[in-house]
Amino acid sequence: MGFWQDRKSTPGQPSEPHSSAGSAARQSAVEVMPLPDASSLLHAYEISGQGWFWQTDAAGRISYITPHVAAQIAVEPQRLIGMPLKEVLGPDENVSEPARTLAFLLTKQAKFDNVVVKSTGRDSGTLWALAGSPQFASDGQFTGYCGSAVDITEQLQSSKHAARLAMYDALTGLPNRLRLADVLSTELKAVAVHKRQSAVMMLDLDRFKQVNDTLGHPAGDELLKQVADRLYRIIGDKERIFRLGGDEFQVIVREFADRDALQELGERIIAMLSQPYAVFGSRCIIGASVGIAIAPEDGRECDQLIRNADLALYDAKGRGRGCASFFSTDLLNEAEDKRILEEDLREALSRGEIEVYYQPFVNTTTNTVTGVEALLRWHHPERGFITPDLFIPIAEEANLIAQLGEWALRRACDDAASWPGKLRVAVNVSPTQFIGGSLPAIVTSALASSGLSPERLELEITEGIFLSDSAATDGIFATLKQIGVRLSLDDFGTGYSSLGYLRTAPFDKIKIDKTFVRAATLPGSRNAAIIAAIVALAEALGLETTAEGIETEDQLELIRKLRVSHVQGYIYSPAIDCEALKENVGAGEWCIAPSGPSRQRSERISMFRKIRAIFGNHVRSVLIRNLSETGALVEGLDDLPYDSQLIIDFGDGNLVFARVKRSRNRQQGVVFEEALIFDGEGGFRSARQVPAYVLQKAGIPSPTDQPSYLLPDENNNDALAGLRAKLGMPQHPTTGPAELALANLSEGLVGVGTGPTSTHSSRDLHERPLSGEELRRLIEAAEDSSNQQLRFIVQLLIRTHARQRDLLEARWADFDLHRKVWTIPSLEAGYERRVTLSNEAVDVLRELPRWDDCPYLLANPATKMPYRSFAASWHTARIKAGLPDVEIDDLRFCSLGEELEPPTSDRTRRIARSFAGLR
Ligand code: C2E
Ligand code: CA
Ligand code: CA
Repeated sequence: MGFWQDRKSTPGQPSEPHSSAGSAARQSAVEVMPLPDASSLLHAYEISGQGWFWQTDAAGRISYITPHVAAQIAVEPQRLIGMPLKEVLGPDENVSEPARTLAFLLTKQAKFDNVVVKSTGRDSGTLWALAGSPQFASDGQFTGYCGSAVDITEQLQSSKHAARLAMYDALTGLPNRLRLADVLSTELKAVAVHKRQSAVMMLDLDRFKQVNDTLGHPAGDELLKQVADRLYRIIGDKERIFRLGGDEFQVIVREFADRDALQELGERIIAMLSQPYAVFGSRCIIGASVGIAIAPEDGRECDQLIRNADLALYDAKGRGRGCASFFSTDLLNEAEDKRILEEDLREALSRGEIEVYYQPFVNTTTNTVTGVEALLRWHHPERGFITPDLFIPIAEEANLIAQLGEWALRRACDDAASWPGKLRVAVNVSPTQFIGGSLPAIVTSALASSGLSPERLELEITEGIFLSDSAATDGIFATLKQIGVRLSLDDFGTGYSSLGYLRTAPFDKIKIDKTFVRAATLPGSRNAAIIAAIVALAEALGLETTAEGIETEDQLELIRKLRVSHVQGYIYSPAIDCEALKENVGAGEWCIAPSGPSRQRSERISMFRKIRAIFGNHVRSVLIRNLSETGALVEGLDDLPYDSQLIIDFGDGNLVFARVKRSRNRQQGVVFEEALIFDGEGGFRSARQVPAYVLQKAGIPSPTDQPSYLLPDENNNDALAGLRAKLGMPQHPTTGPAELALANLSEGLVGVGTGPTSTHSSRDLHERPLSGEELRRLIEAAEDSSNQQLRFIVQLLIRTHARQRDLLEARWADFDLHRKVWTIPSLEAGYERRVTLSNEAVDVLRELPRWDDCPYLLANPATKMPYRSFAASWHTARIKAGLPDVEIDDLRFCSLGEELEPPTSDRTRRIARSFAGLR
């Protein structure tokens, strides 16, 4: 205390740092080493500049402050004495937490430290960490504070710098994943407060790994920098572009008009990133895929939104890359589905659900079977047959492929050893299995334990293996050749199709993939010429060729003409089980006479093209996924009821009348009234060209009209009828054989269960409305369910033709039961939809109990929020009804069927009662 008392005795005159008293004390300390006087030590500390001291009186006024600091922060240092400390030093907005302001702390009369302050006057750039202890007189009276402070400006700056380093990607200078978490959570708070939307775009570069592998990592780095630059040029704000690591980027989009605008932005990004790059003198081309999720509807939390954008990205890649996909709940269901399949797959082997089937490959000149390909078959206890195209990729992702592949290999060798004759067996080897390195040992062991001679085993390998380390690959090839097995290059024509591999790798056979072969028979295709070249090359190298997927006579004829040596396809035989094979082989030679349809049915073209759909007085832009002469698979009509009539406008007056005949997930099958005319070069036109003025006269929206999202009501087929009259078309059209048209497009619509051995049930289902009987079963099954909400959902979906998700979000305020109108609000302003409610729908709604304080139609009684947890109950209900393939979204395509009794009051009341029990 002495020191402070000392100073206090000369108020207003801070002592000089180099006072004679100070240096005398220092001198004596050196000479005789007595116990140093505290005040001189503190003074020495003061002048060292490492820290300084301060003192206040009971009222918080400054009674002492180290002189050089006083001089630093005030023009007239002596005037600081007597000023309230809290006015001289203030908080730093960037650092201090509001609760710890100095002013507040000083009133608490408690000890504090590490409070970051700066001068409120001069030199506000310096930051100090302030500590203080309250002082009390002997009678306990508070007399003020004394304390110290240190300059932490530099320390804070360097920690800020470190924080910045941690938040930004060193290569591209873009903010990184850590920063994303910050920015996105702030963004999502703003979304909630200001009731607006914000989108997250997840970007992934396609083929980036190849650039890295072929040109080296420095080139890869350079490429990433250029990618960042290009993104910046489009987005214009570096703080909205994030590099998440590797070749993953993310963009936060704040201002956008609607989904179309986002789609356009996504496509623009893809186009820009797909332009060629010049990297260290090399030219390279990569692609990009984009997944989009929108807050708040696709997620209000960072994690959820990012996961959903990821799922959308995954979908974009699955669609063949180079496109932008939006998140939808279907994707979530698919992901969940996949997760469940993955779990089931882990057990499938041990439960004996997996089998190996064998498909013959046949010599095209003699029709004799020279060998068979082993193909895995999975009989799922609940889902029935699951195609390997679905479960092999899952096995690969889940690290199950090595186990599964080894099992298939051993089984195939064991089976083949039991066959009469010398049939070869070909086994598929996935790239991960091949690169894993243990393949030669497994092959040796499988051959030894089965007793099969090596030249009867053929391994089918895809180009995928050439993407990794070539020295290791060469080694594995050499070992396999030493063992004496044969090697074939599988799926030729689907990947890079580089004939270069044939030069270096010791293949015995090339298998031309079915997609490549099929395309060859289409007019205008150059595949036939390429096959001829492959055959010539194969003959020169002494290799066999096998064409896969031959189904029709014209294909077989072409393949024979091209001198492909072997054929594998349904025209000879599908894959059959081991027993059937043994029967067929009989004692020795196995010959099969080809038999199949004479021609391939019309080919569908996969495309991603925006076109317009016109129904009634409304225009909508929809995406074409697949197109054939007689129909199309589209996205964007999922709210049109079954059998709705519409016009598809391909542009330039190319219009066709069409009907919605099927819907599955996000895709709808439409069947054309008149077939399109294809020119064989990928171009097509409609049978009649309709000039714009004719459209206008008929009251059809013009091509420049904004898309609208109104549902057709009873009257809006008038415009179509008018146009028909003008074009001299019959008023009551019959669309040709819808089954055939849709079968041509069907692959996109069916998921699980379409292998050669499966029945057609799942395929057929969505080509027709459910029968009254089936509907009744479904409704009953739903009523049986312990989930009361499901009953209402099923009833309402059927009665309103609504979308499930609309129903879940529906508020009572959206319904006008009097006028029988349901207005479905849209996040896209001005695009709300109106649904005309049938009398039956109104009946159900009138009976539906409601809480006064809950705005939602279907709500969780506890939270009063939309209630979504009925997926499992729905699953149970449809199994119970014997309609496992019916999706809840399909229900609105069901026609009500004459026989279905309208909901009697009794029935609805019964449901209402049980629903009321939820409260
Ligand atoms: P892949 O190696 O291209 O096998 C040929 C596929 O074409 C088989 O499909 C076969 O049933 C089918 N196919 C043959 N002829 C015709 C035809 O005339 N028309 C049509 N539409 N299809 C025909 P599958 O059995 O569904 O197998 C699909 C893919 O699953 C195989 O394609 C293969 O890549 C993979 N796979 C099957 N078994 C295994 C296995 O044991 N290991 C690995 N790694 N992959 C397997
Ligand atoms: Ca194969
Ligand atoms: Ca293939």
